[in-house]
Amino acid sequence: MQKLRFAPSPTGQLHLGSARTAIFNWLYAKHTGGKFVLRIEDTDLSRSQEEYTASILKDMQWLGMEYDEFYKQSERFDIYKSYVDKLVSEGKAYYCCCTREDLIRRNQSRGIYDEVTKYDGHCQDKAVQPGPGTVVRIHSGPERDIIFKDVVKGRIAINTKELDDFVLWKSDGSPTYNFAVVIDDALMGITTILRGEDHISNTAKQIILYEYFGFSIPTFGHLPMVFDTDRTPLSKRKGSTNIEYYRKQGILPEALLNYIARLGWSHGNDEIFMLEDLIRVFDISHLNKSNAVYDEKKMIWVNSKHMKLEPREKVIKAFLVYLEDTQQQLVGRMQDEAWLTEAVDLLRSRSDTLADLYRDMIPYALDSYELDEKARELLPSLQTETLEKAYQEAKHIILATSRYDETLESLLRQVAEKYGIPFKDLIQRIRIQLTGKTVSPDILSVMRLLSPVLPQRLSRQF
Ligand code: GLU
Repeated sequence: MQKLRFAPSPTGQLHLGSARTAIFNWLYAKHTGGKFVLRIEDTDLSRSQEEYTASILKDMQWLGMEYDEFYKQSERFDIYKSYVDKLVSEGKAYYCCCTREDLIRRNQSRGIYDEVTKYDGHCQDKAVQPGPGTVVRIHSGPERDIIFKDVVKGRIAINTKELDDFVLWKSDGSPTYNFAVVIDDALMGITTILRGEDHISNTAKQIILYEYFGFSIPTFGHLPMVFDTDRTPLSKRKGSTNIEYYRKQGILPEALLNYIARLGWSHGNDEIFMLEDLIRVFDISHLNKSNAVYDEKKMIWVNSKHMKLEPREKVIKAFLVYLEDTQQQLVGRMQDEAWLTEAVDLLRSRSDTLADLYRDMIPYALDSYELDEKARELLPSLQTETLEKAYQEAKHIILATSRYDETLESLLRQVAEKYGIPFKDLIQRIRIQLTGKTVSPDILSVMRLLSPVLPQRLSRQF
């Protein structure tokens, strides 16, 4: 059985790149009927923050990514400690008391002025005892290639001289990422690990640990970066990459998940996937080798498609969550559940986002509404003497019925014919009168939605 995990460090909000990692792992777990683990990697005590854990959990929940198991590394230090002790006792790791300054000095005396200071193995055979300021380093062993088959990039070989005797246990008593991650992935039985390509050299380090412990090595896949349309890497600093930004912009979670899944994975030329279909077709053999490009316009386009396609209940639920997240209220008739359902059904296919849906719904929901610019310009041409007479007659017919169907439509057609005016002009006149706009959903549905206030609207003077 496949078991996958998402292992965010709570040092910031969930951003698009890490959400993609989560989504790929989650989709593959779902696709294979396997399990999905969420593990909070909060070993870096100085940088990890509870509020980020909470916001990551909120975003995961919003995206609908449930997990089967949940762990926090900060609660597992005893486990990691027992494994590091084991390595030390077997001579595969050792205590080291060198400071960074010591190392820089020694390296410089050998003419090495690298930015990244590789460890020179100074304490390897010194039998340094644990104590304040000491760390545990791996004995990375003789120079050799660490080779693995990456499901995205193919064969990867990294020579151990590019690594070094990296730290497993820090002087503050906490494990490093590369150490804790291996213990956890092995103990949790993780079978496949998909993560960003910035982790490739970590993978080589981790494989040394897998070998030392005799753990079975999972399948690795390293995902290319996500770039902005201007070809610069999407950075956490640009607010638009946080999942929270999309939530607040009124994007449907299913649409964002769909859009993100296509950043670095493809299924022919298909763009729009309902979630069940995405899970059914998601395979790791179609992960792309090349960098993905984030395109905001396309994301909104994908959202507009989902606004039409998702079941009405999902859209309503997402609409309510969006309002709560953005501290906006259901106003006027929106508070009536049946009315809201009808309004969402009628307006959603014209709205790119939930934010548009809310904005478009307000004039229908409130008693006050105004003419927009186009309506203001057009209205006088629809108020000729004949058209006005036709309108008055149409108004009486509309107010005399409670059925907004073809019968009403044919009665209105007869009015237009009687006065010798184009039917579409009469309808436009009614539309402007009812909505203040020159465009709206089909006029009969608009009448139905506005039925509680038709008398006021049809009589209103502009
Ligand atoms: N905590 C690591 C990160 O956020 C996890 C990397 C991994 O998936 O192993 O980058």
